[in-house]
Amino acid sequence: MKILVILGCLLGSALSHKLFTGDQVLRITANSEEQLALLQQRYEQAQYLQLDLWREPTRGSRVVDLRVPLPALRLVKAFLEASGIQYEVMIDDVQALVEEEKAEMDRSHQRERDTGSFDYASYHTLEEIYAWMDSLVAENPDLVSKITIGQTFEKRPIYVLKFSTGADRPAIWLDTGIHAREWITPATGIWTANKASCSPCMIVTEYGRDPSVTTLLKKMDIFFEIVVNPDGYAYTHSSNRMWRKTRSLHAGSDCIGVDANRNWEANYGGPGAGTNPCAETYLGPFAHSESEVKSIVDFILGHGNFKAMITIHSYSQMLMYPYGFSWEPAHNAEELHALAKRAVDALESLHGTKYTYGSMISTIYPASGTTADWGYINGLRYSFTFELRDTGRHGFLLPANQIIPTAQETWLALMTLMEHVRDHPY
Ligand SMILES: [Zn+2]
Repeated sequence: MKILVILGCLLGSALSHKLFTGDQVLRITANSEEQLALLQQRYEQAQYLQLDLWREPTRGSRVVDLRVPLPALRLVKAFLEASGIQYEVMIDDVQALVEEEKAEMDRSHQRERDTGSFDYASYHTLEEIYAWMDSLVAENPDLVSKITIGQTFEKRPIYVLKFSTGADRPAIWLDTGIHAREWITPATGIWTANKASCSPCMIVTEYGRDPSVTTLLKKMDIFFEIVVNPDGYAYTHSSNRMWRKTRSLHAGSDCIGVDANRNWEANYGGPGAGTNPCAETYLGPFAHSESEVKSIVDFILGHGNFKAMITIHSYSQMLMYPYGFSWEPAHNAEELHALAKRAVDALESLHGTKYTYGSMISTIYPASGTTADWGYINGLRYSFTFELRDTGRHGFLLPANQIIPTAQETWLALMTLMEHVRDHPY
C-alpha cells in the first residue's frame, strides 16, 4: 500500500510537471542551404520524436538549436553524423537548468517575504505579475492605468498598462510574453514598466536622474502588454516549462495551441508558418483566430493613433524590422535600418551585449503572420521585433541574475526607438 502511495505521488508530480531529464539542446550548423533543407525536411518528418526547435536558422550562419528528448538523442546524433552535419551540445541536461531556475524562484520568494518588496531580479508567476500590476497602478494613479482588452481562451483577463499624462496623444505599443516560455521578456517588461513609471516622478535612479521618459510622455502615450499569452505563461509554470503557443483547441485537431506570432493578418498562411496543428509554429485555423491576437488588433485599430509597435521575444540577440514575409524593402527601410543600428549600439554600450539587426527576412528566414509585419501593414511605420539574451548558452532558461542587466540594456534600445518616434511625427 505504502509503495502504491509513493508510486502514485511520483506519477502525480511527473504528470503535472513535464520533466526534461537527460534532454539536450544541440546547436546544429548546416554548412549549405542543401543541408539546411535536409534538416528541415527530417525535422518535419520526425514529429514522433517530439523534437523542439529552440532557435530557428539564421541566414548566413545557418545555425539551429534543437532540444532533443533523451529517448531520441542517439538517433538524432547518428543522423547528424551520418549526414556530415556539425553539432555541439549547448545544454547537457535541460532538467538540471529547470530545477536550478525553480530553486532560484523559491529563494526569491523567501527574500520577498522577508523584505515585503517585489523582487525585480526574479521570474514570477502570472498571479504575481497581475498583483504587481495592481500595485504599480495604485502607486502611480496619475500616470498608470490598467485596461482589460479581452479574455484568453481559458477565460483569463488580458491586461494592458497605459502610461499617459494627457488626453488624445499618439501612442506606442510595447509587448512581451507572446511566446510563453520566453520568460526573460515579461521579466524585462516588468522592470521596464517600473522604470517608465518612476522616471516622470524624477526620482533618483541608480543611474541618476532620467528625464527621457518624462519628455516622451509629454507627447505620447505608451501602452504595454506585459503578458500577451497568459494561458501559455501560466502553463509554463504549472505543467510544461517549454510551452510556446497559446492554449486554444480548435475543431479538427487534438493538438493544443497556436503560434500567436504566426496568427496575424500579414501575409497570413505564407512561408514560414506551420499548417500542422501540432507544429510549434502552427498558424491557427484562420487569421486572428486567437483572442490574444484579436484583442490587440481590435484595440490598436479602435484607438486609431498608434505610431509604433515593438514586440519583444527571446532569444538570439536581434533587432528586426519588416518585412518577415517578403524581400520587398519596407518603404522607409533606410530609416528603419539606421534606427535599428543606433538602438543596438545604445544597447551594446552598457554591458557589451552584441545584437545583429536588419529586416526579419534578411536576418532569419521567412516568417508570415507576425506581429511587427501586421503593425507595419496597418500604418505603424515604426514596427520592430526584439530577440533578447542570450545566444544559446542558456536559451529560454536564462538565469535570473541576467534579468536586470538584460532589462537595463534593452531600455537603452527602447528609448532610442521611442525618442525617434517622438521626434518624427507623421
Ligand atoms: Zn518568440
